[in-house]
Amino acid sequence: MTPSGAAAPSDGHPPSVPVSVTEIRRRPGSRMPVERTLVARGLGLTDVVVPDGSEIAFAGELESIHEGVVLTGSAEVPWAGECRRCLKELHGTSAIEIREVYETKPTEGETWPLDHDTVDLGPLLHDIALLALPLAPLCTDDCLGPAPDAFPAVVAVDPVAVEEPAGEPAKDPRWAALDDLDL
Ligand SMILES: [Zn+2]
Repeated sequence: MTPSGAAAPSDGHPPSVPVSVTEIRRRPGSRMPVERTLVARGLGLTDVVVPDGSEIAFAGELESIHEGVVLTGSAEVPWAGECRRCLKELHGTSAIEIREVYETKPTEGETWPLDHDTVDLGPLLHDIALLALPLAPLCTDDCLGPAPDAFPAVVAVDPVAVEEPAGEPAKDPRWAALDDLDL
């Protein structure tokens, strides 16, 4: 077992969060509760980050199926950023639902690997955390910025807000944000 809180390897891969599923693999249909945390390191988008050292907490269960296991539950992702209009510092926690399959023969981009009766929640929680981050947080829904009359000037310093009004919402902004990362 890797001790929790182990430092992330320097190559940028998320730390391992291994869970042994030997017990439930003996009988398809059996389940086990799972609670694990991933300690964040260098996780974030341009304007919003998961602060280094904070914990992404997963709670849910694993269920054994014939070719693997199904993980269901939810993760809580702490984040920090700035209001996109008034630049006030913001902190919050986003919850995200998870339902993912781990298989002995995983399908690239669809399911996760199950090796030696062990699943690794680290890479999953890492990716999920990015999806859970708010793209353009506001301190309040109707924040007008520090000086409402000067609002256009405030928008100009924020790349996310600048891109929004131009039309072409073709791409899911969550995935567009991921494109900017070197994963
Ligand atoms: Zn604000």
